[in-house]
Amino acid sequence: MYESVFHKQKQFFQTKDTFAIPTRIKALKQLKDAIKLHENEIFSAMRADYNKNESDAFLTEIGIIYSEINFHIENLKDWAAPVDVKTPVTHFGAKSTIYKEPFGVTLIISPWNYPFNLAMAPLVGALSAGNTAILKPSEHTPNVSGTISRIIASAFPEKYVTTIEGGIETNQQLLDLPFDYIFYTGSSQVGKIVMEAASKHLTPVTLELGGKSPSIVMKDANLKLAAKRIVWGKFMNAGQTCVATDYVYADNRIKDQLVKHLKHYTHKFYNKEFESEDYMQIINDRHFKRVHGYIEGDIAYGGRSHKSKRMIEPTIIQNADFSHPAMKEEIFGPVLPVLGFDDLEKAMIDIRDMPDPLALYVFTEDRSAARHIIENIPFGGGAVNDTMFHLATPHLPFGGRGHSGMGKYHGRYSFDTFTHEKSILHQTTLFDIPLRYPNYRKFQKLL
Ligand code: NAD
Repeated sequence: MYESVFHKQKQFFQTKDTFAIPTRIKALKQLKDAIKLHENEIFSAMRADYNKNESDAFLTEIGIIYSEINFHIENLKDWAAPVDVKTPVTHFGAKSTIYKEPFGVTLIISPWNYPFNLAMAPLVGALSAGNTAILKPSEHTPNVSGTISRIIASAFPEKYVTTIEGGIETNQQLLDLPFDYIFYTGSSQVGKIVMEAASKHLTPVTLELGGKSPSIVMKDANLKLAAKRIVWGKFMNAGQTCVATDYVYADNRIKDQLVKHLKHYTHKFYNKEFESEDYMQIINDRHFKRVHGYIEGDIAYGGRSHKSKRMIEPTIIQNADFSHPAMKEEIFGPVLPVLGFDDLEKAMIDIRDMPDPLALYVFTEDRSAARHIIENIPFGGGAVNDTMFHLATPHLPFGGRGHSGMGKYHGRYSFDTFTHEKSILHQTTLFDIPLRYPNYRKFQKLL
């Protein structure tokens, strides 16, 4: 069903019209201009889909894309230039160069939790690297998906960039096509389906997945600031953020004190929004029921909900342990269990025993303790004394490992992801060193 659009893009890619640097820069500018023209429409769509307010929408979905586009426009020429590298003495007379080549027709599948940002950020990389793209935004945010379709249609011909809206069936049909690259953001479960489908065509993939991301709070941490930053990152977007703190793992000696500060900042930042029923909604009834089911045990704060509005109050569960229902899977909602540890080494084993998290945060004033944790737990990326901010810089690669994903993007890493590095050895014809030809023993003596 989608073969015709795929082939249109393939033919267009083969004209190499997307390759020239000025064309790529023009495409990025067109994208930015089209987003600017549709800003109000994006705000309304986010309100309609899950009551996201304008300031959060700008901060976490639109502004961040403008910066990403600007960064690519500024640096793209350097990134795309062929790079000369060293050549070993065994290749005397030759030169080595890495040429940068776009993959071709790319597929970008995005989720509902940051429905605009997570469709646009990979698209910036795809365009900056000279590819064409088909976007498949989430069916769970139909208003944002419709707006994305209109933005893309206003800025690009179908043969260059297009949007295909639809659900699982649409995705399955798209995944049957021999794309040159697939960039998927979503759950680990669907990530496996995407990778299996891609393997049929040996299509390379980036998988940006999820997982249970802990915040470890040590006894010497600045507890007020730790609580403030954990609360901000956790309850933004009603906890529906892939890199939100999933659970807090705190030294038992400061745990109660930390909970006191967590309660304080949760009340300060979110009570008014929840009381006025202006808080972000949970995306649908299924997820509302799932997240609501985690509210049990020793509730330190929150616990209320508005079922008809699909709103769950930011909720803190203290004295939780690994048998708590919220610890069985990624929470992806505004419920924060707080667990305690006596022995850091044992706590690190607990975390290592679970699938590799997408993010991990450490709160401590002791740099060597932070480094010890960073070097002894496998995870995607993270921060010391903060949460989430590591993904808002184009200088750090963002991505998971194991169950939290593979590959990386943002800034230059997005360009690299969507680029094939073609290695070429330019050999001389001025002379010919005989060493490599039969009778390798002469060569062996040299090494
Ligand atoms: P999801 O995997 O359910 O859906 C993502 C996309 O996959 C949608 O476009 C959907 O149509 C498609 N899809 C769903 N089921 C499918 C199937 N059976 N076959 C083919 N396609 C299918 O993910 P979601 O619920 O929208 O997003 C939540 C998850 O995404 C969380 O686990 C979260 O941690 C993760 N996430 C990760 C990142 C990251 O950057 N690493 C960012 C946001 C979300």
